[in-house]
Amino acid sequence: MAQLTEQQVDQIASQVAGMLRPPPARKRTVNTPETGAPPAPTAVGVFHDVDHAVRAAQKAFEQFKAMSLEKRKALIANIRLRMHEHAEDLAQRAYEETALGRFEDKIRKNRLVIDKTPGVEALEPTAWSGDRGLTLTEKAPYGVIASITPCTNPTSTIICNTIGMLAAGNAVVFNVHPTARQVSIYNIELLNEAIVEAGGPPNLVSTIYKPTIASAQELMQHKGVHLLVVTGGAEVVKTAMSSGKRAICAGPGNPPVVVDETADIEQAASGIVKGASMDNGIICVLEKEVFAVDSIFDQLMTAFPRHDAHVLKSHEFYWVEKAIFKEIKGQRMPGVINKDLIGKDVQTILAEVGISVEDNIRLAVAEVPARHPLVWTEQMLPILPVVRVPNVNQAIDLAKEAEHGFRHTAVMYSKNLDSLSRMAQVMDCSIFVKNGPSLAGLGDGGEGFSSFTIASPTGEGMTNPRSFVRDRRCVLVDHFRIV
Ligand code: NAD
Repeated sequence: MAQLTEQQVDQIASQVAGMLRPPPARKRTVNTPETGAPPAPTAVGVFHDVDHAVRAAQKAFEQFKAMSLEKRKALIANIRLRMHEHAEDLAQRAYEETALGRFEDKIRKNRLVIDKTPGVEALEPTAWSGDRGLTLTEKAPYGVIASITPCTNPTSTIICNTIGMLAAGNAVVFNVHPTARQVSIYNIELLNEAIVEAGGPPNLVSTIYKPTIASAQELMQHKGVHLLVVTGGAEVVKTAMSSGKRAICAGPGNPPVVVDETADIEQAASGIVKGASMDNGIICVLEKEVFAVDSIFDQLMTAFPRHDAHVLKSHEFYWVEKAIFKEIKGQRMPGVINKDLIGKDVQTILAEVGISVEDNIRLAVAEVPARHPLVWTEQMLPILPVVRVPNVNQAIDLAKEAEHGFRHTAVMYSKNLDSLSRMAQVMDCSIFVKNGPSLAGLGDGGEGFSSFTIASPTGEGMTNPRSFVRDRRCVLVDHFRIV
């Protein structure tokens, strides 16, 4: 396979995108699920049951397999184009349906994956040339992938997985989170429209109209499915890993931040607020607890209000704690968060206990002891515990414990290379961000591609088209070394 430079691929993609403009003004023929009516037989990609969804995706995969790489690139380019057109619309629908997070942050998440999820260019073949001939390894698709998606990033996960999985040559059947069902199905309809419009087969991206946990499990077991990709909490990861099939599992996190005495404190305060408050804290990579060394602790707490955070006084936090926890199970243990407050604005949460803060405030922080349950809980709301620790080594050790061994994401603010190296090694995470918000690890304000399926339990880390392929080796003995 000829190698294209990144620049050439970009050029082709933008030419293809240019050729596809302007969008034809036509009425959508697929059912919109908001009506509550079952989809008509013409609804592209939406099926009443798992078996029909998988069979349709299998058929689409066979058609897709026969298409050229240039066609595959054209499909991806059109998906990016059309999803950009719907980035706000999808964000609005996700916000309204799930009642989680912030509308403007959801637009940002959509745009991030549309622009920065790698495409076909990621599938580089490998060649070995020597006295005994030429061996080539190419990246082949699995076939039909089952993808289980969360309610926290419904559209950004669907768009990201679709781009990555299709770029790798696969078809995908989604079992989406029931509480984000309408926006997810709408998103899948739009993706099918974009694919068909660019000359691809219908149902390459399929879904079940009424997704449930039972349908997710049926999909995982379907013999037409060759790879599972699950994005969610511990339960779905456990189920996928015991399915007997190859599974790429993106599980929960509880990302700690360590701030040491060498850190730029304004940078740390600003970065922590930006990260922890993004979409009201519902993304798995976001900062969930802070360990700050004693010598700069007060300085950090004083800096927070300059970066749109409210510092809770101890009597205020006493009531906030009562509001946000449904159940506290003990010290140094995760508690159960009050579902009604997950993903809500800080104003809404604080209003529950009679505290009023300005509209610009995005986060509330509180000093707590290391044993406090909020430190050990993946809280998914914009209330952040900050722990005072005597020194950086103790901070790193506590960060390691509080992360529960998920090996998901960790953040550190420091100028000390020894401490930065120690934290990187001790945490052993898929993402480690130094001197910036966790979002930089997603490619937002940091280098590198984006993904909203970060597979720590199964080791793929930031998934991308290379995660969704099988390596296939082709060997020609004693020939084709051409030098
Ligand atoms: P969730 O686990 O409640 O749901 C995720 C998906 O799994 C849903 O589609 C749900 O229907 C399905 N599901 C749940 N239990 C199942 C089971 N036993 N069998 C089959 N399917 C099952 O998660 P959520 O509330 O939507 O998302 C938040 C959680 O997901 C957080 O813990 C967060 O850290 C994690 N997450 C991780 C990543 C990542 O990339 N690592 C990305 C997003 C979210």
